[in-house]
Amino acid sequence: MSNCIFCKIAGGEIPKEFLFEDDRVVAFKDLHPQAPVHILVIPREHYHSIKEAQDEALVGHMFTAAKKAAEKLAVTDYRLVINTGPQAGQSVFHLHLHLLGGRFMAWPPG
Ligand code: AMP
Repeated sequence: MSNCIFCKIAGGEIPKEFLFEDDRVVAFKDLHPQAPVHILVIPREHYHSIKEAQDEALVGHMFTAAKKAAEKLAVTDYRLVINTGPQAGQSVFHLHLHLLGGRFMAWPPG
């Protein structure tokens, strides 16, 4: 998608340091971190949200990539979140998995 910011990041059009990358996903630091560690894992291929992502292997791979990014950053306790739809807090409509860690977190989320 030509006007999608995460497509531009995945494609290298917007420079980012990747904490993990392979042929299917990239992981990078969130621009507005909500925790001491806040990483986003995105597929290189564009999906509006998790609802459009039919590729179960890809979705599973996103979680594996998040685990690898956490290991790289030596974060042992973390939360993985996929906001889906505006009511759930999704603001960028390219599927992404949040990895949040480095502080205590409340449950349920606000
Ligand atoms: P969500 O609200 O679940 O859609 O999450 C979107 C996330 O993308 C937010 O946490 C933003 O801070 C983050 N974000 C938006 N633009 C960028 C960017 N250029 N680089 C890194 N993170 C970004």
